Amino acid sequence: MPFPAPNPDINGTMTEKLQTAVGIRDVFLRGERSALDIAEEHLAAIKRIEPSVDAFLTLCEDGALERAKELDEKRRRGERLGLLAGVPVAVKDNICTRGVRTTCGSKILGNFVPPYDAHVVQRLLAEDAVIIGKTNMDEFAMGSSTENSGFKVTRNPWDPTRIPGGSSGGSAAAVAAGMVPLALGSDTGGSIRQPGAFCGVIGVKPTYGRVSRYGLVAFGSSLDQIGPLARTAEDAALLLDVIAARDERDSTCARHEPEDYVAATRAPNLEGARFGVPEEFYVEGGLSAEVCDALEAARRVFESMGVEFVDVSLPHSRIDVEGGALSSYAVGTYYVLCTAEASSNLARYDGVKYGYRSDDHDSMIDMYSKTRGQGFGEEVKRRIMLGAYALSSGYYEAYFLKAARVRRLIKEDFDRAFEEVDLIFCPATPTPAFKIGEKTDDPLEMYLSDIFTISANLAGIGAASVPCGFSPEGLPIGLQLMAPHWQDGRLLRAAAAYQGQTDWRLKKAKG
Ligand code: GLN
Repeated sequence: MPFPAPNPDINGTMTEKLQTAVGIRDVFLRGERSALDIAEEHLAAIKRIEPSVDAFLTLCEDGALERAKELDEKRRRGERLGLLAGVPVAVKDNICTRGVRTTCGSKILGNFVPPYDAHVVQRLLAEDAVIIGKTNMDEFAMGSSTENSGFKVTRNPWDPTRIPGGSSGGSAAAVAAGMVPLALGSDTGGSIRQPGAFCGVIGVKPTYGRVSRYGLVAFGSSLDQIGPLARTAEDAALLLDVIAARDERDSTCARHEPEDYVAATRAPNLEGARFGVPEEFYVEGGLSAEVCDALEAARRVFESMGVEFVDVSLPHSRIDVEGGALSSYAVGTYYVLCTAEASSNLARYDGVKYGYRSDDHDSMIDMYSKTRGQGFGEEVKRRIMLGAYALSSGYYEAYFLKAARVRRLIKEDFDRAFEEVDLIFCPATPTPAFKIGEKTDDPLEMYLSDIFTISANLAGIGAASVPCGFSPEGLPIGLQLMAPHWQDGRLLRAAAAYQGQTDWRLKKAKG
């Protein structure tokens, strides 16, 4: 497949070979490079690139160098080294890191230093990764652009006037810009896949329950899931192999053993596979022409590998267009459920136990309200109010309960579709990355950028976005694959097969 012509303004002169996590690890294991050298190189890249991208909220420079030295020692002593030995990884700032500030993109947690590591962070450390920093995000993961961050806006490495997507925009931008080969994000309604698509990297939201949420700051607990962002399917699989593990501390975490995801990427034969195309996603005016064209080209690539495409129906995820405005039951359902859960989850930020406390107050109630009034941003307050309303007596049946029922219908649509097909193939986003400031005045417009991703969270299934081309302006476009529950390996296998036939991933954003 031919490369699009590089945009001279944004692509610089990056010509060096793509560094994958697997490649970095193997070079370290073979003793060709020290972990210290690798960490220093990545920190230098961050220093160079970060001023124009702003992907990080905290850099763990000393910690990373210290740890790299320990790994070099470990290697010298001939000890067993883990799956991510020496690999620099960035972690979204809603994932707790012991001794390292974890803000969740919010002023209310601006000074919060967790006394414990999230399960996924424990897993990273157990497999000898080097945590390089914490990435910017929309406050409490509420948003689609990182513009809701309480600290700063991250820019898209392919075009600095555009958003990187969100809420895991910092993680996606850090990988896309070549600052790290791997990053962790979290996805409640699309926050891994949407920024992945906007930044031209793979983003995987595993099946709900595959990865422990212990130590992930809760937003919508029945929807949240941690997952990898990476440039290759094999790297994403490697990170998923590390983080997908049983954990008694999260009662929703799966008891059964995960599959071997890297192995899934090494058998990328798709001959005879059936992909479903949801007809309700392709409505007049619902999808930009450039996304449509890229998806069509990707479909032909899959067909050339022996994949059969069939129509499937997801009636309760249907997208409607009226007078140019998009709507869908899935988006409405999601915003009732996630705000309800958020209003309950965010009740704990009261200035008493941890985080920010307003010091200008004259009573306990005044302290609560000033702390929350000053600590939370506008979008978070909007959602707390919406959620409290949806749960309030008299409205609970009309909103929350109704949404819970529609959620079940959405899930049943997927169950039926997966009786016919192995994977669902669809867009990740309606358009490529939009301009900074373009949707900030219209929250509803912003909510609609997740119109293709939200259904997977409501159904609890795994889904991934995979880069599949560029718009004429040079902006990345992503396709989305969705799999039945626990079949996350299929996503990675298909992504690896597609990457084996195309070379989008070799094109590099500004560096
Ligand atoms: N953009 C969606 C929201 O604002 C999804 C966010 C997410 O997945 N964390 O809620």
